[in-house]
Amino acid sequence: MMKKTLFKNATLVTMNASYDIVNGDLLVEDDKITAIGDIANTEQASGAKIIECNGNPVIPGFVQTHIHLCQTLMRNMADDMVLIDWLKKRIWPYEAALDAQRLATSSRIALAELVLGGTTAIVDMGTVHHTESIVECVKESGIDAVLGKCMMDLGDEVPGPMREKTDDSLKESLRLFNAINGLEKGRIEYGFAPRFAISCTEKLLRDVSEMALDLNAFVHTHGSETTYENEFAHANYGCSNIEFLERVGMTTEKTIIAHGVHLADNDIDVLSRCRTVIAHCPSSNLKLASGIANIPLLDKRGVRISLGADGAPCNNNLDQFIEMRLAALLQKPIHGPTAMPAKRVLKLATIDGANAIQKGDVLGSLELGKFASLVVLELDNDPGAGPGGDIYSRIVYGTHRANVKHVFARGKQLVDDGELIGVDLGSLMSEGRQALKVSVEEMQKFVS
Ligand SMILES: [Zn+2]
Repeated sequence: MMKKTLFKNATLVTMNASYDIVNGDLLVEDDKITAIGDIANTEQASGAKIIECNGNPVIPGFVQTHIHLCQTLMRNMADDMVLIDWLKKRIWPYEAALDAQRLATSSRIALAELVLGGTTAIVDMGTVHHTESIVECVKESGIDAVLGKCMMDLGDEVPGPMREKTDDSLKESLRLFNAINGLEKGRIEYGFAPRFAISCTEKLLRDVSEMALDLNAFVHTHGSETTYENEFAHANYGCSNIEFLERVGMTTEKTIIAHGVHLADNDIDVLSRCRTVIAHCPSSNLKLASGIANIPLLDKRGVRISLGADGAPCNNNLDQFIEMRLAALLQKPIHGPTAMPAKRVLKLATIDGANAIQKGDVLGSLELGKFASLVVLELDNDPGAGPGGDIYSRIVYGTHRANVKHVFARGKQLVDDGELIGVDLGSLMSEGRQALKVSVEEMQKFVS
C-alpha cells in the first residue's frame, strides 16, 4: 500500500527556479512529492500521516559536495596545524592504520551528524582501503551519495599502506565502480577519487579520466586548495594545477573539485568552459589557512559551484548551516555587503549541490515529482531565529543544527523531533571513543 505523509501548514521554501515560497501543505506519496498547496482536505491527502508544521519552514535537504566520512575519528585531533603537517603527521597515518570496523564507526558518526543537520546527499572521498565498509554505512543511512575509494600512487612521504601501484589503484577502482555504481535504485553512485595532483602520477590521472569518461562516472578530487599545488604543477608540468587537470582530461562536467581557492584567470576560464564543479568549503579553507575562494567571481564567470564541510578534522563540524553562514560572511569584507546574499547561499547549499551531482531533476528543491528529501525546521520558538523577518536570512544567518526537527530522505523519515531514528547515539559514540583510542595507538607506526 502507498505510504502518504502530509506536511501541514508549512512555509515551503521550495528553491525552485522562481524561488516560490508557498504557505500551505506538501504531500509525499511513497518517496515522491506529489502535491503542494492547499491540499489538506483533498481526496489525494486522505489517510496521510500528518506532520503539523505550525508555519515553520520546510526546506530541501542539503547537498554537501565534499566530505570525508573516513576522517571523523580524527575530529579535534589535528587542529591548528599547517596543511602539509596535518596530512603527514595526522591524516595519512590515521587513514593508513584504519581497519574496516573503525572506518565504519567513523562513517556512522559522520552520517549521524550529517543527517541530524539536514544533509540528505553527499559527495564522499573515501580512504585507500575498505571502501565497502563506507558503502554499507551509506546504504543504512538512507541518504544519496557519490562515493569512491581514494587513489594515491605518488609521494615518498605517503605511508606504506596508502601508497598504491598505479595499475592496482586503477583496477581496484574499476572493480568498486562495477560493484557499487547505481546501488539502492541509483541512490548510491561511484565517483573516482584521485586525492590530488600531488599524490597521483600523470598516468593515473590520465587513465582515471579516460575510464570515468567511458563509464560516464563522476570524478572527485581536490584542486587549488593551496598555493603549493600550483607551485608543484608549474615545477613538474609547466602549468597551473587546473591547467594540468585539464591537460589530463579531468575537467569535465562530471568532475567535482574541492576548494578552488587559488585560481588564475585562465583557470576560471577552463572551469567555466568545461562546466566543472567547484565544491566550496569555507570552514576548511579558513581553518587550514588556505585562503578565501573567490566565489562571487566564479559565480559571475559561470563556474558551477556547490558547498561542503570537508572532513571533520579540518572544520570541525559537518554542518551545512555553518558552511552557509560562512559562505555568506566571508565574501563581504572583500566584495562588499551585497555579495553572496542569503538566498544565493541557500541555493548553493541545496539545488546547486543537486545539480553538481546531476540529480537536479530529482533532488535539491521542493517540486512535484521529486524525491521527498526535505527538512522541517523549528524556528518559531527559538528566540535566536525570530521573531520573524526574511525567510532566507533566518535560515542562512540564524538557524542551527538544533533547529532541525524532522528529516526525510527519499520519503523515508530519518529524524523525528530532533532524534535520529534507529541509531543509538550513546553506544555509537562510545564505540567511537574506543575506535579513536585504538586508532591513536595504531597510527604511531606511520607517523613520519
Ligand atoms: Zn577534502
